[in-house]
Amino acid sequence: MRLEIDALSHRYGEELAVDDVSFGIEAGELVALVGPSGCGKTTVVQSVAGHVRPTAGRIALRGEDVTDVPPEARGVSVVFQRSTLYPHMTVGENVAYGLGAQDIAPARREELVADHLELVSLADQRAARPAELSGGQRRRAELARALAPSPDVLLLDEPLSALDRTLRIQLRDEIARIQRETGVTTLFVTHDQEDAMALADRLVVMNGGRIVASGRPRDLYESPPTPFVASFLGRANAFDATVLDADPLTLRRGDGTVEVSGFKADAPGVSEGSTVTCHVHPGDLSVRPIGTETTDPSIRGTVTRVADVGRRYDVTVGIGAGEDLVAEQVSSPPAVDDDVAVAFPADRLHLFDREAGRRVS
Ligand code: ATP
Repeated sequence: MRLEIDALSHRYGEELAVDDVSFGIEAGELVALVGPSGCGKTTVVQSVAGHVRPTAGRIALRGEDVTDVPPEARGVSVVFQRSTLYPHMTVGENVAYGLGAQDIAPARREELVADHLELVSLADQRAARPAELSGGQRRRAELARALAPSPDVLLLDEPLSALDRTLRIQLRDEIARIQRETGVTTLFVTHDQEDAMALADRLVVMNGGRIVASGRPRDLYESPPTPFVASFLGRANAFDATVLDADPLTLRRGDGTVEVSGFKADAPGVSEGSTVTCHVHPGDLSVRPIGTETTDPSIRGTVTRVADVGRRYDVTVGIGAGEDLVAEQVSSPPAVDDDVAVAFPADRLHLFDREAGRRVS
């Protein structure tokens, strides 16, 4: 069922927590609302759920304005970060409780509980109490309870945040499967860009109460519209430079120059003398000993840190002017204090006008 959020704003006293937010979710789509802590995500979700009455704007479901409809009559289910299962009820009773006061024959009620426990692979825990379940099982029980009444929209507010990494990834895959099987229109809220990218058909990125980008996860990652989106979906990894020449693109940093031949500098923002912010995702950088550079553009620097994170090394290279770049490297890391060249393919460079903060290529 299509969900429409239209010009939503909300103030807590003086603070404008949500500032003119509009987006829609198509029937059956899974959209992730993603952004750093405090950017207003929960306030948006609570407005859709009906727990917050927005200061301005409107929420529409099935084409109807539901802004003033009470939460229980909206056809919306929510799973929160914290467990809200009733401890004195069994798992089965909790799921049945999700069906509320709906007029459903007892046999059908039974069937719905059994089907939804089956859906979340919890059929064998029906008689257990929440305290007897693991953290992941409790999340599944909450999902079953939320889905049992066949909501038009499922809201998931940071449902994975309290879980350890292995369990988080497992449950993330489960949520993807369950959402596909049920086809329920879903808004998934998270501050974790990896969870968002792994799950969502589409991302809506918020910062400071506003939407700053939206689109397919891969498109936003590969063509971030602003330095914030580049850093948020990847990792902060940028340097400033002055454009010496636009074609071939030649950048100056301090007393060094970087020629980025092959870069498509067809945007008007890339003009001689302009200052640009350059971003390269860490996985697109490679660190080489001086003298072994290829034809790829590169910047010289000194290794300041090598972090062994198991499946890769994170190599931090100081490139002068107080700026660092991090390269993710799977093998043969350099040593701290090595002088190196940090190289990247020309088409992996993201260029932003420093003043306007907008992508220029
Ligand atoms: P988090 O992930 O930390 O919950 P969020 O992106 O979900 O962050 P919100 O919880 O919507 O953001 O909060 C947005 C802003 O509104 C924050 O600055 C927060 O301090 C403020 N805020 C949220 N709830 C209230 C409240 N009940 N009263 C006053 N201010 C609030």
